[in-house]
Amino acid sequence: MGNWEDNIRKVTPYVPGEQPKKENIIKLNTNENPYPPAPGVVRALKEMDTDLLRRYPDPSAALLVDAIAENYGLKPGQVFVGVGSDDVLAMAFLTCFNSDKPILFPDITYSFYDVWAKLLRIPYEVIPLDKDFRLVSSDYKRENGGIVFPNPNAPTGELKPLDEVEEIIKSNRDVIVIVDEAYIDFGGESALPLLKSYDNLLIAQTFSKSRSMAGMRIGYLLGNEKLIKFINDCKYSFNSYTMNQTAIVMGVEAVKDREYFLSCREKIMDTREWAKKEFLNLGFSFGDSMSNFLFVTHPSYDAEELFEDLRDAGIYVRHFKKPERIKNYLRITIGTREEMERLFDFLKQYKNKQ
Ligand SMILES: *Cc1c(COP(=O)(O)O)cnc(C)c1O
Repeated sequence: MGNWEDNIRKVTPYVPGEQPKKENIIKLNTNENPYPPAPGVVRALKEMDTDLLRRYPDPSAALLVDAIAENYGLKPGQVFVGVGSDDVLAMAFLTCFNSDKPILFPDITYSFYDVWAKLLRIPYEVIPLDKDFRLVSSDYKRENGGIVFPNPNAPTGELKPLDEVEEIIKSNRDVIVIVDEAYIDFGGESALPLLKSYDNLLIAQTFSKSRSMAGMRIGYLLGNEKLIKFINDCKYSFNSYTMNQTAIVMGVEAVKDREYFLSCREKIMDTREWAKKEFLNLGFSFGDSMSNFLFVTHPSYDAEELFEDLRDAGIYVRHFKKPERIKNYLRITIGTREEMERLFDFLKQYKNKQ
């Protein structure tokens, strides 16, 4: 037997939330949007000219880049698009994190960051959240090769006010600071206005959550033109055609319908605020969330057991076994009001059973 295994890049992959095949379930485990994509998306998909599929798509995805740039009042050169924010974040790691110094991110956060760091052999250091699972911005004032954190954070839902985000960017002018704004549309304030003042800021956003298009796979980065050009250079050195023709067309339709976008996110925020009260009434506790999920715990329940009992009842939520200090928490996506009512019906009964 040869030693070829010695030359293999071995990694422990990221594990996405379950996508159950069963019907009639309530799916609150991957922070998807419970509402359909904008009507224009549905229409454009039906009317799609399939003859276009013979051709390669536009490698620069200019139609989509222009639509996103216009939506945020930026230049097209400040927008980078990719196959979900997972794709654009991976490309940002590859392009921006090339120091021997460790990059920094929180200990409790999006669990893809350490996977990319290991895959790309980027040294990293995790910065613990405080005892209430809050990110302490002053902890990010130390030597580093770059910084990445979600705002709001996941799975805690905590939103950092803009002045604290700015503090982190300002005290790290020699490295790139990536603010992952996957959940910013659910009531948070984006770092977008800071792009004018800080050329080391890179913002990542996605169509997967607030625009109901997780299945289409569209994500984007916003930054200064020079930085976006460097990221494009890496992308064109890896795979020119990341965005398929369908995604480009559907993405434009989703961005165009501002009114629909605003009404969906309004509904989700209303349901979230109501759900907070319901959880409190049932004895759950949680940090304040400004995202489309709540990170809850209950003094009398074992989270893993509750997770399994919910799943047996057809209600899927997310449980993370690691790190240890979040073991007794469940991350629950905000669904429709009806879905949440079914969840609370279950929990009310569950309480009586204990
Ligand atoms: C969902 C999520 C992403 C990735 O979303 P895509 O579907 O790849 O766009 C990135 N970061 C965080 C924090 C997320 O929760």
